Amino acid sequence: MMAMTILDPFCGATRIATMKPGRHFLHIPGPSNVPDRVLRAIDRPTIDHRGPEFRALGREVLTGLRRVFKTAHPVVIFPASGTGAWEAALCNTLSPGDRVLFFDCGFFSGKWEGVAEQLGLRPERIEGDWRAPIRIDALAQRLADDPMKEIRAVAVVHNETSTGVTHPVARVRQALDKAAHPALLMVDAVSSLGSIDYRHDEWSVDVAIAASQKGLMLPPGLSFNALSPKALEARTRAKCPRAYWDWGPQLEANEEGFFPYTPSTNLLYGLREALAMLEEEGLAAVFARHTRLATGARAAFEAWGLEFYGTDPDSRSSVVTAFVMPEGFDGDTLRKTVLERYDLSLGGGLGRLRGRVVRLGHLGSLNEMMLAGALAGIELGLGDLGIPMKASGVAAAVAALRTALAPAHA
Ligand code: PLP
Repeated sequence: MMAMTILDPFCGATRIATMKPGRHFLHIPGPSNVPDRVLRAIDRPTIDHRGPEFRALGREVLTGLRRVFKTAHPVVIFPASGTGAWEAALCNTLSPGDRVLFFDCGFFSGKWEGVAEQLGLRPERIEGDWRAPIRIDALAQRLADDPMKEIRAVAVVHNETSTGVTHPVARVRQALDKAAHPALLMVDAVSSLGSIDYRHDEWSVDVAIAASQKGLMLPPGLSFNALSPKALEARTRAKCPRAYWDWGPQLEANEEGFFPYTPSTNLLYGLREALAMLEEEGLAAVFARHTRLATGARAAFEAWGLEFYGTDPDSRSSVVTAFVMPEGFDGDTLRKTVLERYDLSLGGGLGRLRGRVVRLGHLGSLNEMMLAGALAGIELGLGDLGIPMKASGVAAAVAALRTALAPAHA
């Protein structure tokens, strides 16, 4: 969508055309596209949040969320972004000075660690390579070196949205069990919930953190903590100050489907609709769709000859593909080009990856045609900037999608 100077037929003067025909292609790795069904569900009058109609809504979404987290235990909802739920996870279960183990695996893991520091906790980091999965051997060693069990929590980001690498939560659980270590397991499922299989109870996760704007297909504004009995027990001893983020009043009010303060009623309408959509499609089918779309996206990058940021093919995320810009080209210039010319939004590199990495989100309410459109936008942008391509990524993606869809169309 190039900016063009036009002669305005109404006033006779020239001006820059601002009209953008067609739809915007939102391909950042969250917020993701909000489906029309969810938008329509939100577009209703707000009701009394202490009345009977709200009680039914509250109960429905609180129960529905448990199915998405795959837990039989409570899930609490905050009118906040994911960062709030990070803070809630820490301040409800820990006391100032408590040691929390983080992994050096990406921008979001680092930001969460910063929250822990600000709360007066003692974060410690297992060094790693952002491009690779977290090191379970290093975790096992650190747990073995903690005979007094001073580490109170291990915090892992399931899907590092900044790097496009998915980390093995089940293996973190196994390492804790093998070491018979009582630390709480906290998992950031912000960009995995509803897109990549996340199993709260099976992996014995104590606190999960998630947010509305990714796999749940909602606008930003809600975040979640899924809990375990052990996390609830830890809350009774935790001394970190907390008021707004306290799970206690939430859980009490949630019993009746209510909230301890004014909830985001209209986002909860949207959440009810989004949960219904996930259930209609079936979670397994939702995950399979994300896997299929990721296969198509990767085929495109391979054909173009662009380098994936994640070096381990088995750990590449099915919700976001992060790629490295070729030497001499800047990622933000590519993003600016595709936005201005083709109305396509891509994610930029975060923190130390700024300019070097570009991220294509393929999560949430998305299908093959939307992905193909975004890939076409990238191919056009690469061509516009003279970035060398080995072959057409779009053609390769279409071929990969055809193969992936073959069983469904047989
Ligand atoms: N964790 C991950 C993995 C994320 O991708 C994000 C945001 O994109 C966050 C945490 C922070 O969430 P928010 O921006 O909603 O506060």
